[in-house]
Amino acid sequence: MNETLLQQQIYTDKVKNFTLGQQKTYKIQTFGCQMNENDSEKIAGLFEEMGYLESSDNAIPDIVLFNTCCVRENAEQKVFGHLGVLKKQKEQKSDMVIILSGCMMQQAGTLDQIKKSYRHADIVYGTNKSHLLPLYLYTYLSTGDKQFFTEETGQEIIEGLPIKRESSIKAYVPIMFGCNNYCSYCVVPYVRGRERSRSTHDIINEINYLVNQGVKEVTLLGQNVNSYNSEVDFADLLYLIDKLCDIKRIRFMTSHPKDISLKLIKAISEIDKVCNHLHLPMQAGSTKVLREMNRKYSKEQYIDIINNAKKTIPNVGLSTDIIVGFPGESDIDFDDTLEVISTCQFDFAYTFLYSKRRGTKAALRDDQISKEDKSIRFNKLVTLQNSITLQKNISCEGNIEKVLVEGLSKTNKAVLTGRDEANKIVNFIGDKQLIGQIINVKIIKGKTWHLEGEIV
Ligand code: SAH
Ligand code: SF4
Repeated sequence: MNETLLQQQIYTDKVKNFTLGQQKTYKIQTFGCQMNENDSEKIAGLFEEMGYLESSDNAIPDIVLFNTCCVRENAEQKVFGHLGVLKKQKEQKSDMVIILSGCMMQQAGTLDQIKKSYRHADIVYGTNKSHLLPLYLYTYLSTGDKQFFTEETGQEIIEGLPIKRESSIKAYVPIMFGCNNYCSYCVVPYVRGRERSRSTHDIINEINYLVNQGVKEVTLLGQNVNSYNSEVDFADLLYLIDKLCDIKRIRFMTSHPKDISLKLIKAISEIDKVCNHLHLPMQAGSTKVLREMNRKYSKEQYIDIINNAKKTIPNVGLSTDIIVGFPGESDIDFDDTLEVISTCQFDFAYTFLYSKRRGTKAALRDDQISKEDKSIRFNKLVTLQNSITLQKNISCEGNIEKVLVEGLSKTNKAVLTGRDEANKIVNFIGDKQLIGQIINVKIIKGKTWHLEGEIV
């Protein structure tokens, strides 16, 4: 066992002894992306090892942890709003421990704001520090001293931490951490540190372990999986997983258009286990805006990649991310975005209002777009994309799709729900014994947010 894991184990045992005989509970609230969701699964694993149980919905837990996000301002506002509510709960239960972790804590200035205005927070730590949670918690419990650790150190990858996964059918597998791209609007490189890839060997071992546990689908995670750089490159990682792991389905996100290779597009089309789906954030349609965003591709280059993917990968599902209202974006620039949307015909798009992020280059610009203009453009974009999504879903009617059955529909317990290879939600009537299996479903009706089908 390496020194880090040994230390984590020592403090895990100390917390366990400290709370001996009392069944303590924890609750984690996750904000933001899949990487954060995966980090929270690891945090849950640590709490369980320390003898804590996940609290039931209505009970006030002994520990509340917010795993935070700061990619857009509304994610931050949500955290502050929830923290305000917690203050009242802590007045009722004074020994409740409040822990804040993740990206937002790593941002310059946030810790000072918390110390000043949210003094009920007890432990605060940034990204890449979760393995030290047992140490922070033990020190806080045994001394009562608040623990604040947000300085940017510790970029090493810690393998072998416990994990409590949300699903027994699908799993996230991070393959790399951090980002080197410095898109001019984005805070991620500042709060997640430099790019570093996990070893291919560790990834294959983790997937094989998951297969033994009955997991059917893995999603390989990274801010830019195309720049995965370890024993092999990303496309070869897909070939290796295909060869060495008996996993049924492989997904991945996110790909950066500047790094996507023909080799990768070929790998997606050649490897049966890799789902026919490509999430390729375009961010904006105008070459001028893309240059100012530091994205390193033009409108034409983006469209070429999409055309290539459509030509090479049969029935490929395409999705993207788009930002509306980047500083200096003119009506003509925005029209370029609408034009690329019409040309590419994405199955789905995640659409965002540009949000000014402290410390980024774009935040310093004095040609910020007004809230009104942003929202008019946003509505136009969403209306166009929704009509395309609906048309594309209608065009699936009559197709037979392979669906991984994930569970019961939240709104109707007689209905099962799952996803097809293109990542579309498919709802159909069926026996819950089918949960966890990949089955053929005939698409009967395409709706905007899902497909309705029947088992073949
Ligand atoms: N690494 C991924 C995305 C990470 S953030 C990639 O590059 O594709 C997820 C999405 O949030 C981005 O694709 C972008 O569309 C959006 N985003 C990031 N910063 C933003 C900001 N300041 N305002 C609005 N949207 C933003
Ligand atoms: Fe942010 Fe760009 Fe890195 Fe994605 S690639 S995380 S948008 S800086």
